[in-house]
Amino acid sequence: MKGIAASRGIGIGSICLIVEHDLSFDGKKIENVDAEKVRFSAAIEKFKAETAEMAENIRKNIGPKEAEIMEGHLAMIADPTMSGEMTKMIEAGQCAEAAVTAVCDMFIGMFSKMEDDLMRQRASDISDIKISLLKILLGVEDVDISKVAPGTVLVAHDLTPSMTSQIVKGNVVGIITEVGGKTSHSAILARALEIPAVLSVPDITKQVKDKDTAIVDGTEGDIYINPDGDVIAQYVRKREDYVRAQAELKKFVGKKTVTADGKEVELFCNIGTPTDAKKAIECDGEGIGLFRSEFLFMDKPHLPSEEEQFMAYKEAVDIMGDKTVIIRTLDIGGDKEIPYMDLEKEENPFLGFRAVRYCLGNPEIYKTQLRGILRASAFGKVKIMIPLVTCVDEVRAVKALVEECKAELKSEGKKFDENIEVGCMVETAAASLIADMLAKEADFFSIGTNDLTGYTMSVDRGNAKVANLYSAFQPAVLRSIKNIISAANEAGIPVGMCGEAAADPLMIPLLISFGLDEYSVNPVLVLTARCIISKWTKEEADALADKVLSLATEAEVVAALKDAAK
Ligand code: PEP
Ligand code: MG
Repeated sequence: MKGIAASRGIGIGSICLIVEHDLSFDGKKIENVDAEKVRFSAAIEKFKAETAEMAENIRKNIGPKEAEIMEGHLAMIADPTMSGEMTKMIEAGQCAEAAVTAVCDMFIGMFSKMEDDLMRQRASDISDIKISLLKILLGVEDVDISKVAPGTVLVAHDLTPSMTSQIVKGNVVGIITEVGGKTSHSAILARALEIPAVLSVPDITKQVKDKDTAIVDGTEGDIYINPDGDVIAQYVRKREDYVRAQAELKKFVGKKTVTADGKEVELFCNIGTPTDAKKAIECDGEGIGLFRSEFLFMDKPHLPSEEEQFMAYKEAVDIMGDKTVIIRTLDIGGDKEIPYMDLEKEENPFLGFRAVRYCLGNPEIYKTQLRGILRASAFGKVKIMIPLVTCVDEVRAVKALVEECKAELKSEGKKFDENIEVGCMVETAAASLIADMLAKEADFFSIGTNDLTGYTMSVDRGNAKVANLYSAFQPAVLRSIKNIISAANEAGIPVGMCGEAAADPLMIPLLISFGLDEYSVNPVLVLTARCIISKWTKEEADALADKVLSLATEAEVVAALKDAAK
């Protein structure tokens, strides 16, 4: 079965099924209000004591940051609005269970409709509080997770932080739930405990029983229940490989990114939201090589204002401290639609009025963004990056708009980095062919192999029928990448890569040979990329690149790279 891969690794063990308790109650009107208020206060006090103990357990066993989840629950219940509303309902004759349910449900309804992920997470916090309070009021005892045997796979409808706080690391080897996503608290805690977890597997609690054998592949999101011996043997090997690889990767935490012969390169991260910057820091990224700003536009029902954009960019800049943040300006159109922008339907959207073309056609929208980025540049090391460049005129036009915005901000007395760099993504066949000319205009390059592959091979990125042609290892794409890097190197401007190929272990030796300065990857791949980069000298990489560039087919290229892989 498949679910959401929420915490990496492979767990194989025996299931402990956490059954949901019946939390129904008789909602009759109460007669003795005072007695009910005393019962309610006692439940709140017990909840606080238990939650404080769990917070302490989490702090000791997992870490202070994760303990904040339980501290958040304490703060919510201490907030007089919530308990005050509950008391009012009891005073009106409702039993404590009904008061807790009604008030919590009201807040859950409110928070779950909000757009912000963190706010939506509040809804699940309150649901956790509600269940804990009802259990106390109804005298229901939970399974004691702290007592499960070593080698246990926990299966539950949802694994609440309160349950997770009882996990003894080493005893629980896997987690499977019916709800929750990558950012849910159960996922965060599972990752912090390094326990493989697959979430959102429909009806899993109805399909398994205690002591069934389960395999949890938290990297791929696969689970197997009572698999045969061959599958178990295959996953035991996978688990060994994973554990070995993790141990090797840990050696690279906090290290610089250097090739085997000592050339230092930069290893940045790709992010979509300001809070993703935290992930980049946690994963040991050295900067942000691509902030996909279009997510700020997609998350809202209207164009984000200059102030909203400024705050979002500044948030990422503040998180990154003195590290570089490259913000790519609005890259809409093609596969990225924004409903309220009313983009006209086009015959060929990938070749249409999109990205920098749209922005230059709507200078007021573009200037709002450029002003937001410029203002954020006063607080850190910010660079502007232009998407989908195809000709020199576009770079000049964007730079002219940047100058206009600078002049406006200056006259308004607003601060910004006077020397902000403006670079371009090289992700079209046209840009690659005139890379030498673009290098005279741009302060830096970043190669977008996701699109460069599509435009070079004339393949739609999302069309499964032509997916066999969509490969950055096609000889045409490799030549293009080499040409772009050489042009940047000759012009003396830095060149990075922010397409997925930058983290591909097979591509990395070629990029070392071609002379790439900066790799920008998904945060979870930082250590893997640093590890692979550390294995190659320039001389070895050059020998491999020479061989590979003489090969005529993608299959031969991939085979040669696999053969040489370290
Ligand atoms: C790319 O095209 O390689 C790239 C990094 O940008 P996106 O995937 O957002 O188009
Ligand atoms: Mg792109």
